[in-house]
Formats: sequence, structure tokens, C-alpha cells
Amino acid sequence: MFADDSPDAGKRRAVVQLYYLPTQYFSSKKSQLRNLRRYQLIFLLGLAASLVYLLMMDAFVSRKKRKLSFHSPRQEETVEQISMLSVPDDESTDYKLALLSSLHPDINQQVLLDVLLEHEGKVEKASSSLADATSSSAALPKKSSGAVGYQSSLSKFVASDDSSASPTKRSKLMSKKGKTLHLYAPEDVAAHTPCSIIHNFLPVDEANELLKELLEEAPTFERMTFKLFDNVVSSPHTACFYVEGLEEQKAQKTEYIYNGDLLTDVRQLTPEMRKVSPRVQEAVNREIATRIKTHYPNGQKLKYQSSAPWRPNAAFVNCYNGGAESVGYHSDQLTYLGPRAVIGSISLGVAREFRVRQIIPQDSDSKEKSKDSADAEGQIAIHLPHNSLLVMHAEMQETWKHSIAPAQAIDPHPISGNRRINITYRDYKASLHPKFTPKCKCNVPTVLRVVQRKRENWGRYFWMCHAGNVPGKEGCTFFEWAEFDDDGEPIWKDR
Ligand SMILES: [Zn+2]
Repeated sequence: MFADDSPDAGKRRAVVQLYYLPTQYFSSKKSQLRNLRRYQLIFLLGLAASLVYLLMMDAFVSRKKRKLSFHSPRQEETVEQISMLSVPDDESTDYKLALLSSLHPDINQQVLLDVLLEHEGKVEKASSSLADATSSSAALPKKSSGAVGYQSSLSKFVASDDSSASPTKRSKLMSKKGKTLHLYAPEDVAAHTPCSIIHNFLPVDEANELLKELLEEAPTFERMTFKLFDNVVSSPHTACFYVEGLEEQKAQKTEYIYNGDLLTDVRQLTPEMRKVSPRVQEAVNREIATRIKTHYPNGQKLKYQSSAPWRPNAAFVNCYNGGAESVGYHSDQLTYLGPRAVIGSISLGVAREFRVRQIIPQDSDSKEKSKDSADAEGQIAIHLPHNSLLVMHAEMQETWKHSIAPAQAIDPHPISGNRRINITYRDYKASLHPKFTPKCKCNVPTVLRVVQRKRENWGRYFWMCHAGNVPGKEGCTFFEWAEFDDDGEPIWKDR
């Protein structure tokens, strides 16, 4: 909400600057001059609608503070109130970044993103802090290092004047508000993020064959579309969904709902993907066992985490073609995976930065985040080279967000050129087939979410309407707490 402090002059300035954004934003597409004016108009209308929406949300948020308590589940009466129990995916980061970039064209995207995050996504605050910094000639880095590779250890990056620091103390030093901590070594990734990584995962030839096969698939991948405020926007990368067999393919196309809609393009696993699946399964289960032993309280699996072996029966494949293609901060949807889901993610081709940041719940009565929790929300970049397997562990989706950051510079890969291919293997639970999950007032199977923002009911799961994400539809106010047994299997009441 970038009009948070609402000085009118500031708002006017932002609106005036907005007008100049589209030309710059689309200027690289020389061949589309005819469409340019139409895009400009749509873009302007969209941004104007977003501004109005954000101003309304400001008013809404201040009203809510007085009236709402989250002790009772039935007090969330509007779609917005229900949505705000969890932290929404930050799809708007690209817009905010584009806006900030138009205001500060000579500062690189990396710095802009960091400053944006430092100011909790508020463009106006970020912008004035950048203006202050530039006018006082404080040096802002103009160009970040595009180099992506291995580093032997994190110790190079952390001041080592306190070698006696306890592990807790060390991890406290780790992430800092407004700064990005870069991790390369597997032991650092495991220690400071909810992930673990295996470098050089597949035999060299097998990784290359898999990459080549998916590069042939990728040109027909599509951009996912979703609704941002009242606009239909498409994701800044392409993707496709793969399942095991014909039966699953049919079910996915006709029964499973994503962002309030059916997927039109669902494919069966390719031969190379099938070949790799057992290796992924074996490695992920091994990583889960290690994680439980070394990271979880009393060496026990987490509550709601499945005790059955992890089985990769579906995969989203993403293609990032060039450094500008990216994905904003989000958590993966748990609707069909259940609570405490584990996801195995193979990276192929160009190495990119996978960024993670923790969501710290806030006390309902404290407006300001404490410095410690703001630091804990600082972002961490995990470098994902060709042929690496990243495991997102059971503690990840509920309390962390992740993204693929736009890259200023990339090192082309000998096989894939500018492209990164990413296979994210998932374990779809039969017990969470949409025929079992609650349907909302729109008669659409609901989406599973978790309370992330408020300490009250923090970590509790709930079912809510998908339809708010569908272009042309309003969501309904359906709300139901979701109940699971210790293994994360759903418990259905009244059935
Ligand atoms: Zn609904």
C-alpha cells in the first residue's frame, strides 16, 4: 500500500510518474507499435484501479483494527477479511518494481527490490528513501555481480570477529532487514533456510538429456494468468503441469481447480522425467529423514507432516527464458498436497537465484514490527546451478515465501542458452482430491490456506473460496477451519 502516509502531493507525483511508465515498460517490443496504445490504455486503467483499490484497502485496514478480533472464526465476514488471515502472494512485486524503476531509472533492479522489501513493499516510502540516499550522495551500488557459482563456505560473507558465537547467535546474524544474504554451500542452505540442496544430482548425461527433452517441450508452455486486483495479468514466466498417466491427466483437466479454474494443458510425464522420478524419490526421502533427525524437535517429524514415504506423482515444470523472467514471492498451494508438504525441485540450464523469506506473525495490537522480526524477514538467496536438487522441507510453505528474482545478468548455459528449466515434483494426496474437499457457495472446491499473519489461530488451516482469483468473478465468503490428524490426513466432519 504505497499511499500509506497519504500526503496528497506524494500521491499526485506517483500518479504523474505512472503515466510515463508504460512507454518505457514496453519500449523493447518494437514490432508491436500498433498494440502499444491499447496496452498503454489497459495498463493505465489497471494501475488506476489498483490505486483506488489500495486506497480503499488502507481505509479498510484502519477500520478493521478497531472492529475486528480474530478470536472467533465467524467474525471474518468479507472475502478480504478471510484472505487477510494468510499473507497473500506478492504477485504485485513486478508492478511495484516497474514503478520504482521508472522513478529511479539509473538504480539497478536488485537494489530497488531490496529497498522495496526494506519498506515493506511501499513504493512511495522506498522511493523517498532512495531519493534521500542519492541526494546525500551515499553510494548505492549501480550494478550487482551477475556471477553465479559455488562458494566454499558462508564464512567468507559473515564478519568473523565473534568466532565463539553460539549457533543461535550465529543464525541471528544471518538475515538482515533490507539485505540479501547469499548462500551457496549445502551446509549453509540447510542451516539457515527450510531447504536442503544436492549439487550435481544426476549423472551428467542424464541431466543433459532431461534438459534437452524439456527444452523441446518448453516453447509450447503458457503463461499462467491470474487476477491482480481487478486486472488479469499473466505470470512473468511459462509453465506446464505433468502427471503420471492418462487417468490422472483426465482428472486434472476436469476436476482439479487452480486459482479458481481448470488447467487446459496437462501432460503426461515425459520419458526422461519418468527415468529421473525414482532418483528424486529416493533422494527426497533421504533428505527428509536427515532433516527430521537434525532439525526437528526431539528428532520427530512435524505435527501434520505425513509419515508415509514421499512419492513424486505430479510435477510443475517452469521455464525462465532470460534474466527478466521471474516469479514473485509466493507459497505453493497446499490444497492437494496437504499440510507440511515437501517439494523436490530440479534446476537445469542457466543458474538463477531462488529467494526465500520468513513470515513472522504479528501481534494484533502492535503496529510496528520489532527489529528482530524485521531482520528475520530479511531475504536469503539460494543459488541454483544446473543439475541441482533443492528440497523444500515440511516447514517451508506455511511460514516462508519464495521467489525467482529477475537477474540483471546471467551466464548462458551451453545447452539451454538463456533458459532455466525447473521441475518441481509434488506428492498429490488421494485424500485431498477435490471430490472430498469442501465446496464454497459458488459450488467450486475450496482452496486450503493457513493463518500466517496473526498470532491468534496462527498455523491453523482453513478452506476458502477460490473464485476471487477468477477474472470476471467475485469470491464468496465461504470459511471453514480445516481439520487434520497428526499425519496431515483430512478429518471430515458431518460426512
Ligand atoms: Zn465461492
